[in-house]
Amino acid sequence: MKKHEKREREIVSSIDEKKAIPYEKWIVSFADCRKSKIKISYREFFAQGFYEAYDTVMTYAEKQNLDVRWFKEKRNCGNTFSKYEITKLESFCTYCNRKFNHQDPVLCLHSNCNSMFCSRDCMNDHIVLLHNSNI
Ligand SMILES: [Zn+2]
Ligand SMILES: [Zn+2]
Repeated sequence: MKKHEKREREIVSSIDEKKAIPYEKWIVSFADCRKSKIKISYREFFAQGFYEAYDTVMTYAEKQNLDVRWFKEKRNCGNTFSKYEITKLESFCTYCNRKFNHQDPVLCLHSNCNSMFCSRDCMNDHIVLLHNSNI
């Protein structure tokens, strides 16, 4: 038992080093200027730090032909957004790399792991592969 616990800690700490930045909920505001009237929209998404958020926002804006007005962590947006249900931007599944926006991401049940998944199946496979254990 002791031996098993030690090995688990080693795996977790090596993941920690790679993924020191936690996933945060971000909000982005887009402007659609294609029509005569500018349409403003908001989306929320998960990202690991500013650069990932920037990448996510820019990729999406380019694909959808939108202008980015601003984006920031939801916790820094004040109370304005906590009242609203914001449509989610696509996220990437850590395990299968698929894009999804149909639901809240499934987060890894392992403590100290920040991975997120499109489905429970992907999370289970990830846990068996990476954390070497069954739930
Ligand atoms: Zn997946
Ligand atoms: Zn994990």
